[in-house]
This record gives sequence, C-alpha cells and structure tokens, in this order.
Amino acid sequence: MNITVRAPAKINLHLGVGAPREDGFHSLMTVYQAVGICDDVSVSRSAAWTLRVSVPEWIDPDLVPLGGDNIVDRAASLLAAHHGVDAKADVLITKSIPVAGGMAGGSADAAAALVALDRLWGLETSDADLLRIAADLGSDVPFALLGGTALGTGHGELVEQVEDAATWWWVAVVSDEGMSTPAVYRHFDVLNPDAPVQPESPDALLAALASGDPLRLGETLHNDLQEAAIDLRPDLGDIIDFGHAVGAVRGIVSGSGPTCVFLAESADAAREVAAAFGKNGHEVVLVTPGPVAGAHVVTY
Ligand code: ATP
Repeated sequence: MNITVRAPAKINLHLGVGAPREDGFHSLMTVYQAVGICDDVSVSRSAAWTLRVSVPEWIDPDLVPLGGDNIVDRAASLLAAHHGVDAKADVLITKSIPVAGGMAGGSADAAAALVALDRLWGLETSDADLLRIAADLGSDVPFALLGGTALGTGHGELVEQVEDAATWWWVAVVSDEGMSTPAVYRHFDVLNPDAPVQPESPDALLAALASGDPLRLGETLHNDLQEAAIDLRPDLGDIIDFGHAVGAVRGIVSGSGPTCVFLAESADAAREVAAAFGKNGHEVVLVTPGPVAGAHVVTY
C-alpha cells in the first residue's frame, strides 16, 4: 500500500504579533490562506523507518534535514507514541514549497505525514487529537491540516475557518536565500518594545474576504513582521516596490519572509506580474490560487 497526501503552503493575509509571552511564544492574531503550492508525503509499509526527500532543481536539497531533525520524523514519533505503536514506514517527501521561505513548508509536511501515517497504520485518530498533535509539532501545523482560509489565534495553533467569497490569485516571488523565523521575531521584539499583549482582530480584512473584492482585500493585507524582515533583508522592500510598479494590487512579505506574495486582480493579471518579475531576473516566481484544501489524500 502506497499512500500520498498533499498539503499546502500558507500565506498570512494578516499577521498581528503581540509581545513575547512567558512561554517564549508570541501571541498572534493571524488570517491564514492555503495556496496551491503543495508538498506531497508518500508513505508505504516497511520493517524500519526510512525518510527520503525529493526537491525540484531550484531547491537546495541540503536545506532539508534528514536523520531525525526533519519535522516529519517528529510527526511520526508523536503519532506513534499517542497510539503506542512502532513508527515504521518508508517515507518520501516531494517538496515544492520553498524551504525557510515563510510559507510553512515544514508544517505542511508534518500535517501531510500525520494524515498519511494515520491511514497507513490504520489508527483512525480523531480530528481533535490530530489537531492537538499538530499543535505540539508547530504553530502552523494545525492550519496545514485545516486549509482554506482561517483565523489563527493563541500562537497561531488555534484555527477556525472564516468566510471567504472568492478564488484569489497570488504571485509568490521566492528568494534564493532563506530566513530564520526566530531571528525575524527577535528583530520584531527589538523594533517593537511596546507591542500589545494581545494583537487586535483584523475586522476590515475579514469583511474584505467576505466581499470577494480583490481591491478591498489588497487594502487590508497586513504583516507586523514585514518591517523587521525588510530591515534584515532590504532587497525585499525593492521586490515589493517592483510588484506594485508592474500592476500587482498589493504585495506583502509572507509570514517571516523572505518570500514576497502579490495579490493580482485575476489569473491573467497574476501571470503578467509574474512575467515582469521573470524579465527582471527573478528565477523562481510562482502563480497560485487560494484558498485550497488542507492536507488531503491524493493516492492510496
Ligand atoms: P516557519 O515559518 O514555519 O518557521 P518556513 O516556512 O520559513 O517556516 P520551513 O520550510 O518550514 O520554513 O523550514 C524551516 C526550517 O525547518 C528549515 O530551515 C529546515 O532546517 C527545517 N525543516 C525540518 N523539516 C523540514 C521539512 N520537511 N521541510 C523543510 N524544512 C524542514
């Protein structure tokens, strides 16, 4: 039996960040959207645990850890421990989500692995338990299970779907050098010593999503980490300015960066923005719709 589960990258349409909490996390008020850039996790029965990773030529394979440090190893261990079974499987991760790009690729792999291994091992884990295990793995993992468009609270791990009236078209400009999420948060803390304990609810953005109007959505996109990310990587500011100059409705840094995402008015408009980036020397520029489904079985 070979089971393949696909899980999406996320972008944060709104990322409100509070002051650091005593447990080290930051309180977040975020709106996630799952977009059609996906990793696949394929699993099959085996007498041992093996993990392989396959990457497209634009991803450096050395960036994805093997041998225990991969988040998929941790996902398998937690799921197996929850049920008291042995974590044995052959696992192949096929990556398309940029690594360390602010699009939660590792979280997508973890979510896909939970769904795939649950089925391979015949565990029938409840949705509530799967979400709890996901939250233990990382703040963005529950959303990678849920998909669609969702409000994320707590440190991002508490997710609930929100009304979203459209298919939105995005252009993702991928950087050839990743950024460390903890380093961006540390710089945010330096720049924002008076950050609120609890960030505000993004009411205008939620209304824009329900309206289906890309111009309205563009006006309300917001990322509290953007200033810190651009301070650390000034080229991201130039990329956003370029996207605006070539017709994007609005560009923002995705999560902690360095991927920049641009909302376009239509699929055609997105392709035009992407082509302009290509002509300007950006090698990896992806056009994608959102929202898409969370982790789901594609072959079994
Ligand atoms: P986040 O914002 O969730 O920290 P990101 O989207 O910026 O993440 P990821 O691609 O999830 O970045 O990877 C962050 C780091 O996690 C990588 O630099 C890598 O060392 C480690 N990692 C562990 N497992 C994986 C995996 N399956 N795919 C990619 N990176 C992984």
